[in-house]
Amino acid sequence: MKRLIDMVAAGESLTENQWEELIAGQTEELSAYAAERAKNLREQIYGKQVFTRGLIEFTNYCKNDCLYCGIRRSNGNANRYRLTEEQILDCCRQGYELGFRTFVLQGGEDGYYTDERMVSIIRKIKEGYPECALTLSVGEKEKESYQRFFEAGADRYLLRHETAEEAHYETLHPKELSLKHRMKCLWDLKEIGYQVGCGFMVGSPGQTAKTLAKDMKFIEALQPDMVGIGPFVPHHDTPFAKEKGGTVNQTLYLLSLLRLLKPNLLLPATTALGTIDPRGREKGMLAGANVVMPNLSPTNVRKKYELYDNKICTGDEAAECRNCLNNRMQSIGYELVVDRGDPQKDKR
Ligand code: SAH
Repeated sequence: MKRLIDMVAAGESLTENQWEELIAGQTEELSAYAAERAKNLREQIYGKQVFTRGLIEFTNYCKNDCLYCGIRRSNGNANRYRLTEEQILDCCRQGYELGFRTFVLQGGEDGYYTDERMVSIIRKIKEGYPECALTLSVGEKEKESYQRFFEAGADRYLLRHETAEEAHYETLHPKELSLKHRMKCLWDLKEIGYQVGCGFMVGSPGQTAKTLAKDMKFIEALQPDMVGIGPFVPHHDTPFAKEKGGTVNQTLYLLSLLRLLKPNLLLPATTALGTIDPRGREKGMLAGANVVMPNLSPTNVRKKYELYDNKICTGDEAAECRNCLNNRMQSIGYELVVDRGDPQKDKR
């Protein structure tokens, strides 16, 4: 099995069956081996630097009904909110002062934010902070809308594909949503010129080594700039309330494999990973991650953007979040940098 890891690290392409074997064959020893190689590759390209993204969760209204998600439309217990343009700009101002040079606008699919409103927000952020990168994460749109947002100044787009296997996709989503359309969106975004991020939850109900092998092959084909993965964490008000969550060990192993698959990836150690393990984000870094995405949303709405249970950092001010992460990264010899954090050249 180490031979398969060596092959990935050498830039050779694995078949879907080989990926399946490698993922199903995870052991402690293999994880340690993958992590060591992944960390070395990460440090060759990104050194000890950790890129930060200031996450602004600007709406938890959502027209979709994804079975895993706490802000799905049929969750009547979700306390809904939207941020005004002014509040969003306030988050950016505070974030800029704290050293963030990338802002991520994330939200549910909320019809209130028409293309016109989005364009206005994007323009104002880019006018106010021309040297910052702006990432959008607002779900599936028409290609024309993505194009307008890009022309207004958005640089990056995050749209996790969630799973690359159709039958699995259907068990996670309501019938109006399809993998085919999700993938079309990702290819559209890429064609327009965005830096694109896809990704998936680790341990989502119905996920297997085979579906994960398909994720790896999809990522190899798409060649995204970023890949967001974090453990699935059940939310009490969803149909998946009683399902098992993803594990720290499998998330770390997959982070390492992703780093080996595409050495210059922007790979976050996610909040979900920090939620299921108090040192999850540090462990994520040591397994090959190079990005963290602390929260910049106003504290009074933090708890309301509850995609899953027990989400961390919902009570802290943005400044505390950055400090806390800075300390965490220093504890493992890494450091947060004041930088847009664009992808670097692949040095393999
Ligand atoms: N509406 C946007 C943003 C979704 S929220 C979109 O469609 O892209 C961002 C990500 O959170 C999702 O893509 C999903 O992978 C993750 N997520 C949702 N519910 C989760 C849960 N219960 N546990 C872990 N991650 C979850």
